[in-house]
Amino acid sequence: MTAELKKRIAILERMLDNVGACIFSKDLDGRYTYVNQAVLNVFDLNEEDVLGKDDSHFFNLAKSQEVIENDRAVMQTGKVLEKEETNFVKSFNKEKTYRIVKKPIYDEDANIIGLFGIANDISEQRELESKVHEQNQLLDIVLDNVAAHIYMKDDAREFMYVNAKVASLFGLPVSQIIGAKEQDILPEEMAAHFHQSDSELFASGKKQTIEETVTDESGNTRHYLSVKVPFEQQGRRSLIGFSTEVTELYELKEQFRKQANTDYLTGLYNRRYFVEVAEREFKRAMRSGEPFALMSLDIDHFKRINDKFGHPAGDEVLKTIAKNLIGNLRDEDVLARIGGEEFAIILPHTNFEQASKVAERIRDYQSSHAIATEQDDVLAKVSIGLVMREHDDDTFDSMFKRVDKALYQAKEQGRNRVVAHVS
Ligand code: GH3
Ligand code: MG
Ligand code: MG
Repeated sequence: MTAELKKRIAILERMLDNVGACIFSKDLDGRYTYVNQAVLNVFDLNEEDVLGKDDSHFFNLAKSQEVIENDRAVMQTGKVLEKEETNFVKSFNKEKTYRIVKKPIYDEDANIIGLFGIANDISEQRELESKVHEQNQLLDIVLDNVAAHIYMKDDAREFMYVNAKVASLFGLPVSQIIGAKEQDILPEEMAAHFHQSDSELFASGKKQTIEETVTDESGNTRHYLSVKVPFEQQGRRSLIGFSTEVTELYELKEQFRKQANTDYLTGLYNRRYFVEVAEREFKRAMRSGEPFALMSLDIDHFKRINDKFGHPAGDEVLKTIAKNLIGNLRDEDVLARIGGEEFAIILPHTNFEQASKVAERIRDYQSSHAIATEQDDVLAKVSIGLVMREHDDDTFDSMFKRVDKALYQAKEQGRNRVVAHVS
């Protein structure tokens, strides 16, 4: 060997020692004929301890079938292999996965005399991948079993993710939703609804919490509490949405709200709610200048009815009078039971003449139509006070006080009558 050649080989070896990959060659018996520094590092040995020895010294071959099979394939058939190979490395006392390239080495007569190989350690990458895979599986289990619809979309209206609940709501498999645009897979109205609320989200760039009402395919009204959060994903404006069904909660809330406003016996509004509505209507009338009438009605000698026919019969009378009043009023009138046997009525957009007629009609009806109870037919006459909103009324309360006085006078004057206080 010339000095020049020796020098070049030395340079080459130094280069190969500085490559991160393991580079090696083996003879036909599998004995190493060359290894670079990376191989020595893996085996944790010096060159003298490796060259001339086969893999039984470095790998636990019982657990490293792949290295034997791959080497045999290259040396017996002349194949070039590019694949992954997992070996149990003695120095690490564990499995390592390599991306390998193995090629046969030929002599001048084209006989295979060994192999040449490059191996890159990809164990960490594989471990990471399998961890990510495991975590993805775990995440899928969580997301598919949580009681919420969860989805991700970009600002081009394309679904990036949906959980199983969303898929079943849309009636499509997850695979057909991800990558599709909402306007291509959803009913027009629903897609338009989403588009509008998503556009608002992207415009504001802020998290949104909204209550949504949707009519499902069976015509039932369903309520959802939806939280949408905007975010950037690889330069794409995106959003993630969580939508929880709150129909039961919503209905319960509605039921409570109704109960709080309703008189249990007659089903009419109670006093508290009446005052709330009345104040609102009063202000509206004040702004519009429309006439606004208020009536207060009290059953005459109701105590006697209770005494004579019993409390349950008294209850029947109250319920029937409530029904009669509804029959005598318009939808926009507001009727409430504000005391034991006392009712109040607001008549918006009603002048004095019209309101007097209504009051008189009610009084007349009650004085001429006996009410059937379990006990007997009962004639329950009524006294009514009537007032109109006047210019110096600046609160509903002042009207309420005046109507009380009018009612008191109706009682004083002999009952079964309407007394109006108008200036
Ligand atoms: P007036 O003509 O002066 O109004 O006489 P009245 O007997 O109707 O008036 P009073 O205020 O003396 O009596 C009202 C009665 O209404 C007394 C009370 O027991 C009865 N009452 C109040 N709430 C109910 C109810 O929910 N059911 C029944 N059956 N009676 C009730
Ligand atoms: Mg009474
Ligand atoms: Mg009373």
